Amino acid sequence: MNMQPNFFDILKFSNKWQTNKLYSIPVYKMPRELKIKYDPTTGRAMDVFEVAKSESFARQSKPGLFNEPVRDNVNATPNDLKTDAKTGGKSVALDFDHLLTVPPGFENGMEFELTTLVKSIQNKYKSQEESEMEKTAGIIRNIATEGKIKDSKDSKLHLALPKIPKESPTLWAETVDVSEAVDFDSMVPNPAFKWKFELDSFQKHAIIKLEKGENVLIAAHTSAGKTVVAEYAIALSQRHMTKTFYTSPIKALSNQKFRDFRSTFQDVGIITGDVQINPKASCIIMTTEILRSMLYNGQSSVQDLEWVIFDEVHYMNDSERGVVYEEVLVLLPEHVRIIMLSATVPNTLEFASWVGKTKKRKMCVISTPKRPVPLEHYLYTGQSRKSKEHKFLILGAEGTLVHKGYLDAVEAKKPKEKAPAQQKDTGKRALGGGKRSCDQRYNEKEGNKVKKVIAIAPHASKSGPQHQKNLWIRVLDHLCSEDKLPVICFTLSRSKCDSNANSLSSVDLTTAEEKHAISQFLHKCLDILKGPDKNLPQVIQMSSLLKRGIGVHHSGILPILKEVVEMLFQDGKVKLLFATETFAMGINMPARSVVFDDIMKHDDKGRRQLLPSEYIQMAGRAGRRGLDSTGTVLILCKDSVPELESLHKMMLGKPQKLESQFRVTYSMILNLLRGKQLRVQDMMKLSFGEVHFRSKIEELEKEMKQRENPPKLDCSTCSDVESFYEAARKYLEKKVEVYRHVLHPQAIKALKPGRFLTVVDDECVLKLGLLLDVNTHSKEPIFKTLVLRGSKKTKRENSMKKIDKTRPKSALTPKMVALVKNTYFVPHVRDSDVLSLKLDDIADVTDFTLKTDCKVVLSDWKTKSKEDSPCSVFDKAVDALLRMSKDPNFNYLNLVEHLKQKTLDMVEQLQELQKLKPKYDDFKCCLCSSFYEHLDFTTQEREEYDRLNYLTSDERLGNSTEYAAKLNVLKSFKYVNSDSMVQLKGHVACSIGKQELMLTELLFRNILTDLPEEDIAALLSCLVFNQKPEKEPNLTPSQKETIDSIQKVARDIGKTQKKCGLQEHVEDYVDQFQFGLVEVIYKWTMGVSFREIMELTDVQEGTIVRVIQQLVETLQDLRKAAQILGNPTLETKLEAASTKIKRDIVFQGSLYLQ
Ligand SMILES: [Zn+2]
Repeated sequence: MNMQPNFFDILKFSNKWQTNKLYSIPVYKMPRELKIKYDPTTGRAMDVFEVAKSESFARQSKPGLFNEPVRDNVNATPNDLKTDAKTGGKSVALDFDHLLTVPPGFENGMEFELTTLVKSIQNKYKSQEESEMEKTAGIIRNIATEGKIKDSKDSKLHLALPKIPKESPTLWAETVDVSEAVDFDSMVPNPAFKWKFELDSFQKHAIIKLEKGENVLIAAHTSAGKTVVAEYAIALSQRHMTKTFYTSPIKALSNQKFRDFRSTFQDVGIITGDVQINPKASCIIMTTEILRSMLYNGQSSVQDLEWVIFDEVHYMNDSERGVVYEEVLVLLPEHVRIIMLSATVPNTLEFASWVGKTKKRKMCVISTPKRPVPLEHYLYTGQSRKSKEHKFLILGAEGTLVHKGYLDAVEAKKPKEKAPAQQKDTGKRALGGGKRSCDQRYNEKEGNKVKKVIAIAPHASKSGPQHQKNLWIRVLDHLCSEDKLPVICFTLSRSKCDSNANSLSSVDLTTAEEKHAISQFLHKCLDILKGPDKNLPQVIQMSSLLKRGIGVHHSGILPILKEVVEMLFQDGKVKLLFATETFAMGINMPARSVVFDDIMKHDDKGRRQLLPSEYIQMAGRAGRRGLDSTGTVLILCKDSVPELESLHKMMLGKPQKLESQFRVTYSMILNLLRGKQLRVQDMMKLSFGEVHFRSKIEELEKEMKQRENPPKLDCSTCSDVESFYEAARKYLEKKVEVYRHVLHPQAIKALKPGRFLTVVDDECVLKLGLLLDVNTHSKEPIFKTLVLRGSKKTKRENSMKKIDKTRPKSALTPKMVALVKNTYFVPHVRDSDVLSLKLDDIADVTDFTLKTDCKVVLSDWKTKSKEDSPCSVFDKAVDALLRMSKDPNFNYLNLVEHLKQKTLDMVEQLQELQKLKPKYDDFKCCLCSSFYEHLDFTTQEREEYDRLNYLTSDERLGNSTEYAAKLNVLKSFKYVNSDSMVQLKGHVACSIGKQELMLTELLFRNILTDLPEEDIAALLSCLVFNQKPEKEPNLTPSQKETIDSIQKVARDIGKTQKKCGLQEHVEDYVDQFQFGLVEVIYKWTMGVSFREIMELTDVQEGTIVRVIQQLVETLQDLRKAAQILGNPTLETKLEAASTKIKRDIVFQGSLYLQ
């Protein structure tokens, strides 16, 4: 009988049923290893500790308390091998030759036998039931034992602290000589990626470094082909089955890169604030901010990360974005390799050393000043049909200034004989170059007349729209005839871009065929828009321009239109593009020529000439690789020729250095306090701004060490000089503190001009002085005091010897000596001086006053010259001082009696001060014949020690005051408690990306919950909009009321910040929240069409779309926060609000992502 085993048989077969087993979890011992703890600043090994073998940064940190969905679903463990081996749905053969033998994050790996590996993969599929935990542990164990065996020979070495090589500027970074020829094919016989074109030398060098797993920084012009390096890293990580993150500072650039990379590598994803596509891909494009939040939240996908590519790393200099770069670079785990792509900057090596040092891995700097397509820079002076060909080369492809070209341009710009009225100005202009004011005035006065004679002297009118139009037509004509299209015209104002494009209604640059293609493309792209959105004025206007081959690109343009323009431009259909500077910052979209409408630019500080880096970035758009032999750059000389010197500076000047923009932010403090991976001070120390100091610090610490055992003083009498120093110093410090309150002229009645004081002079003697003037307007009160000068003869001379002629090195010594030696200065001549004393310079105040007009004395002293016999008032004052000094029979003032307000505290403090004063009899050292010298020796030793101590301490850090202030703000709003533990409010604030303080306060003060969702969305627009629009919005009474409460919260935060020591003015803080778009957003949330809301405001379309998109992010952040806090009413409302505003043209997904 063949019995089928039943369920109970199976139970019997297995172990006895042990219910107790369910209560315990077997202790699983992770393999452990020793790690060395380094001092974050000096890189010195400090301690050895034990960690689990596989721990990386991501595991060490606590898991984020509140993970966004995006933050945790990007997860791949070794068990994902099956899916990872597939790309784009197609199964690919495993490339066994190129599997990593050392997994990212591990120090040792294992060289698998091929058969073992195949077996292990087969086993993997066989033993599906095997618990995942057990399997992972097995692999880790293998690696651990393997590593042990490998290292057994030098196991001692392994445990010994590794030697940190000596600091030198190139220790952590080296420049690769790209001129050196490499045998690329033999070094990289089987490249992970191949291009159709021959690689440049710098690209080959970079790829070799990537193959070796080294960190690289590539500094080159935009068109030089830096992307090749990024592409290779992606290909390499796909071969290694690891991950690559590509980060860019600009969202628009991320979208474009996504399209490009996806067409090459298929398995590509993107995560930005509002978009998430294929987040499990092996290559993920993200903004730097997203990467930061992943690192703070201990994202698990960071463990499989092999490369992080930082594109446009020169954005470090941007005050908003810079700090994010520094945070990310500090936070990245050590196993991650770094690729940085930058424009050419003068201090690449310095920056690279910082990254290298921070990540403890050498950085290879590969820079090339080479431009694949050289540029030719011209001045264009064409002002009439006749002179439309007038362009003059001033900077050739070899990079040398052409003086003749400049002089010719100046000559060509000279007005013709026909306009005699202008003759006078001509000379000046030719000489002065840039002076144009005379010309302008002339035009304003005779504006009308000039217009009429425009055909004869067209240069007379410089700014009229007709003139502008004619100018552009001429330039275009010229460029057309020379076959220099397409052209990008950089016009540094949005409205000028629009008006220039719109004025060229007669210009048509496309063929019938192209027109058809453009129409079709437009139709395809704009078809996804809703009916009324298709008829937006901007859409219609732009479509008409595009059909004629003209495009406009700036931040006021709707995002979808901007993308249409970019795509048509890349396709060569847009021949003339009016753009602002932002077009030069994104993806590489070159043209044959670039025209500068103006080389002056407006920024928040006013009008200025373009910086070299800005000019180079924009001019660099000229010349397309493989299509043009040179790129043409034209600078329009509308009024006059710019001065040669300023042109030289702009074209050949050094670009801006990379500089640290590091500052402490609230979110940084909260995240670091919460995660505990790093102290905020360590983050400050590791920042780029500290890099210079970090190289010095080791030296300083060495010096410190030596100071710990100071050279001993060889004097038996002075054995207690140290304790005297301590006592004297304590007294002097206390004195300054007490005097700050007591001696303030407003606190003491007696401290008025005419009072006699004592001061200590350099020779340790007390000197009488007559107080002449008290200035309390400066930060510290200044006491102008008349003293006598002269030879030093002392009365009541004790054992004190004559002091060495050399002045004392420490300013403290005389003050200390004077405490115990009551030696008075006795003048013999009438030579006088007026000193400006600070509080701590005043030794004591006497009970003696002189009735005189101190103002007269002071003014006499100021005007007196040696020949003049001083007037009697001044004479009398000096006489009195002389008399008093010779016979010092005064008493010191009892300060307590003269206090205006006698608080108990003040009296106590003065008494305490008196007790602290060191007494002559208490210290043996006072008897020493060389007391002064011996004390000075001690003082200097101590001062040097203190100085070093301070320099190596956290207090010295540049941002430490800001940190202290911000921490206090957080404490006073209870985001952290007094022990700096993050509280609920702090956790809530951590979940908010921007304006975390303001939003958290609004939430906790319950200002929004009772409002309708439309109002919530509308009012919160103040957090993402900070312009002051000209039109006042129409607001409902309840909206006005809430605005008041929001401003009250802002003012409260502003005041607390000020109180805690931050610089920002309260009203500046309040003013950053602008309510100009409340009505617009309200209507939009109510479902009104985009066309109609545009009529409510003068803010441009592109700006509105951006505000609404950012508003959605804010609403989502706040929704998460409300969820944490447990406010379901608000949560629902916020969800509804964001659904309502996410519609139509505003949330039309990027064309690049489709
Ligand atoms: Zn001595």
